[in-house]
Amino acid sequence: MKFAVTTKGDHKSNKIKMIIEQYLLDFDLEIDEEEPEIVITVGGDGTFLHAVHYYFHRLKETAFIGLHTGHLGFYADWLPEEVEKLVLEIAKETFEIVEYPLLSTEIYQENQEEPDRYLALNEMTIKKIEGSVVVDVMINGELFERFRGDGLCVSTPSGSTAYNKALGGAIIHPSLATMQITEMSSINNRVYRTIGSPLILPSHHVTQFKPTTKSNNFFITIDHITKNLDNVQAIECSVAKERIRFARFRPFPFWKRVHESFISDER
Ligand code: NAP
Repeated sequence: MKFAVTTKGDHKSNKIKMIIEQYLLDFDLEIDEEEPEIVITVGGDGTFLHAVHYYFHRLKETAFIGLHTGHLGFYADWLPEEVEKLVLEIAKETFEIVEYPLLSTEIYQENQEEPDRYLALNEMTIKKIEGSVVVDVMINGELFERFRGDGLCVSTPSGSTAYNKALGGAIIHPSLATMQITEMSSINNRVYRTIGSPLILPSHHVTQFKPTTKSNNFFITIDHITKNLDNVQAIECSVAKERIRFARFRPFPFWKRVHESFISDER
């Protein structure tokens, strides 16, 4: 089997990467950073996000597994002291694949024939450096509300424990193919009125955000990536048809991970 190990870049993570590579080579597995069948990330959830974006073009062929070297990770759920156990499991090549939904974002800009499309594992956000974000929120082509405020976040179920959670969004089990819209400090007065609650949309729904003023430049984030875009005409989100594949070597139920990440990490 072909594998790749990515790291956060700190000394501890790099050392663990070397140990994993040496063990797996001893087991006759092959390092292939271009076309790995399994990617092992060593660092945190941020490291995991970077690796997934690097290999987004290989979602059908590559499975991911994360080992965390910092505080408890959400995607990176193996501990440094479990490295030998993990390597043995990988060498046996008998892992289960668990798939999670992703978010698809299409950004329409003036003078562009086709929208740019991005996949996110956690979320897409719309923000501005100066002034408020003012957009019409459309659901399945119908105007739902006019939003004015700091910004909007559309998250995946696995991203619901990230930015979305800080915005008061619900934690969604990743077996539910949904996307969740959460507000960042909406302005509510006689002119602007928003729902105020997070909205959870199913996989056959589409939401669009359309700028209402000439001020159509935004900071759009896709996970850890920020884009400063001018002349935005519409931002369209839906649950992606692609899914991310995790290599699972042992049961680690989602709610247990939520508990260990946010309530108590005593196993
Ligand atoms: P960062 O600011 O270095 O890290 C943001 C934090 O979010 C890190 O502690 C990271 O864990 C954690 N995280 C990432 N994905 C998570 C998930 N699915 N569930 C729970 N925690 C998660 O930023 P970054 O490394 O570039 O990562 C970008 C992510 O930061 C975005 O996708 C967004 O979700 C998150 N973010 C959160 C807030 C907020 O909560 N107010 C604000 C901006 C961005 P590790 O330390 O293990 O890497």
